[in-house]
Order: sequence, then C-alpha cells, then structure tokens
Amino acid sequence: MSVATAEVSQVLRVGVSRCLLGDRVRYDGRHKWFPGLQAELARLHLQAVPVCPEVEAGLGVPRPPMQLVRRDGGTRLMEAGAPHADRTDVLTRAARRLAGLDEISGFILKSGSPSCGLDVPVFDAWGLEVARDEGLFVQCLRAGRPGLPIIDEIRWADRKQRLLFLEAVKRYAAPDPQSCPPDGAGTIAGADA
Ligand code: SF4
Repeated sequence: MSVATAEVSQVLRVGVSRCLLGDRVRYDGRHKWFPGLQAELARLHLQAVPVCPEVEAGLGVPRPPMQLVRRDGGTRLMEAGAPHADRTDVLTRAARRLAGLDEISGFILKSGSPSCGLDVPVFDAWGLEVARDEGLFVQCLRAGRPGLPIIDEIRWADRKQRLLFLEAVKRYAAPDPQSCPPDGAGTIAGADA
C-alpha cells in the first residue's frame, strides 16, 4: 500500500508560514494567500500550525522590510537600508522557541522571504547581491530540529516534490524511523492526488 491509499491513524501537524494561509502579517500588512493549500492540507489530514517568525519576534505589522546582509564575516537579518537595525538576535530567539513546537513533523514556508525563504539573496553593505542562502528562520529550524522536512509553496506546487515532502513528514513523525513501514500503514491519505 502506498501513501495514496493509506488509512489515517493520526493527525500530523505541520508548521505553515502564516502569510500563506491568508493572515495579514507581511511587513506591508498584506498576506500571500496560497490558493488551495488549506484545502489540500485538510484533505491529507494534516493540521496546519500557523507561524510567522517575524511577528513572533515582536517586529510588528506593518514593519520595515528585512534583508540578509553579509557583515563581519557572518550573515545578519537587517532592516533594508538601515545599517544599524540588526534584527538577527531577536528573530533567532523567536525561531528557537518556534523550533521547539511540539509534534511538528514538517514546515511549509513562504519562498523569497529573508526569514522563511529557502533561497534568498544576501547583500553586501552597498546593496549588491553577493550570495544566496536560506532565510534566518530556516537556518534556525535546521539547527534546532535536524532532519525536519521543509518545503516552500513553490516546491509544494510541484507534485513530485510535494510527495517527497509528505513521505519525509511521515518518516519524521514515526516514533522510530525503522518502525515506519515502507508501504505506509498510515498517516497521510490520498497524497498522490
Ligand atoms: S516572516 Fe514568514 S510567515 Fe511572516 S510574513 Fe514573512 S514570509 Fe510570511
């Protein structure tokens, strides 16, 4: 049996960037609602746990836009165009709290964000792009929850990558990875649709 026909034996929880769910938490007070995501999660019996690391960090809505900046040999989360507005530490503290969320078996994150994005530009002090990296929240998640499956909404929209993510969520949720049967006696229903 594949995950396509598996029985649902438990509800798995996945963190989701709040702006993808239609919450107006972006720096400009808007959202980035991703059509169909909530319905698809419900159909798969996955429970969405809405998370906005920048709001959790107390940065407010609206707030100045952020960007990753290469500085003193490291990468910092800064307010765009404000060389003294370093938000790295406050967001890192919030991200560490969020990484400890109970029973989260994966994360669906907003692409392009200096906090949530999986591949975002890093700028130098003059505003030139000098590298690409993962957003600060993603880096904290990987450090705090090694192996946690993470995907963004662009990859989620790709059926093959979505299925790989769902399989990874199922494996991550299994108490003992060896105990998760390869044919998936059950956690995610209808995942191949
Ligand atoms: S920090 Fe993440 S969840 Fe919050 S608005 Fe930006 S992309 Fe969305």
